[in-house]
Amino acid sequence: MRLLVVEDDADLNRQLVTALGEAGYAVDTAFDGEEGHFLGDTEPYDAVVLDLGLPKLDGLSVLENWRRDGRSMPVLILTARDRWSDKVAGIDAGADDYVAKPFHMEEVLARVRALVRRAAGHASNEITCGLVRLDLRAGRVTHDGNPIKLTSHEYRLLSYLLHHQGKVISRTELTEHLYEQDFDRDSNTVEVFVGRLRKKIGADMIETIRGLGYRLGEPVDE
Ligand code: CA
Repeated sequence: MRLLVVEDDADLNRQLVTALGEAGYAVDTAFDGEEGHFLGDTEPYDAVVLDLGLPKLDGLSVLENWRRDGRSMPVLILTARDRWSDKVAGIDAGADDYVAKPFHMEEVLARVRALVRRAAGHASNEITCGLVRLDLRAGRVTHDGNPIKLTSHEYRLLSYLLHHQGKVISRTELTEHLYEQDFDRDSNTVEVFVGRLRKKIGADMIETIRGLGYRLGEPVDE
């Protein structure tokens, strides 16, 4: 799962990127509205954390532009606590949720988790497929009840496949949701991570669909 954080306060930006990174997401970052708008317009994010007060282009305009152009990723806006009208304007502009500043990082993490799983059609924080169970809140994976140790890339890959289980996911799509924008993708191919993951959760869990990509679990209608 890959996120975008748009926040001009350098400290807050760093805190968000660190916390979301530790929670298992690939995180891209922008410090003004123009850069944030560009990234959200060109990269496929699973969710965006968007500050409203931004230099160059304000957050509300960024959001309105994305929605006008058909960008439908979940967006969590950061608002000032005493500005109820910002919350209303933000949600009317297409935000899915908000957090008022100052906030506890746990609240941002919980709301992002909820936005990402809801967007993929999951109401619960536990996603299972066969014997594999992912606890989104704890960031833990078990197989038949036994904990499985995963690297951050393996975790992102499995989390994405579990969120979208039953669907065929192309290598390109996986690559786009696994790595940050400036990551050297060539030397860390998806095939390698799929191979490692199969060793940990069972070779038959992830099916290779020749020429199309991978599928976790039984096929579903798309
Ligand atoms: Ca700001």
